Amino acid sequence: MRESLAAAGFEVQLRGMSRPGLAGEIPIPDAMVDVWAREDDAEGARALLAGLDARAHLEWVCPQCGERNPASFELCWSCQRDIAAGD
Ligand SMILES: [Zn+2]
Repeated sequence: MRESLAAAGFEVQLRGMSRPGLAGEIPIPDAMVDVWAREDDAEGARALLAGLDARAHLEWVCPQCGERNPASFELCWSCQRDIAAGD
C-alpha cells in the first residue's frame, strides 16, 4: 500500500512513524492502519487508495524467512528484517 503510493509519487508514512511536515490523515477501512500524506498530496493519495483493495495489503511476506507480517509492521516479527532495507 505504501509502496503503491510511493510508486505513484506520493510521499507517505504509516501512522505511528511521525515525521515533520506530514499532514492529512487518510483512514483506510479494514486495513487497521492509517497512512499519512502531505496535505497537498492527500486528495490524490486518497483517490489512489480508493482504487486499491486494502485487504490485499494487510500482510507482507518476509523475503528472508518467509513469515507473514501485518502491514503495520516495519520489521519482520520473526527475524527482524527491515522491510524497507531492500536486498
Ligand atoms: Zn523474517
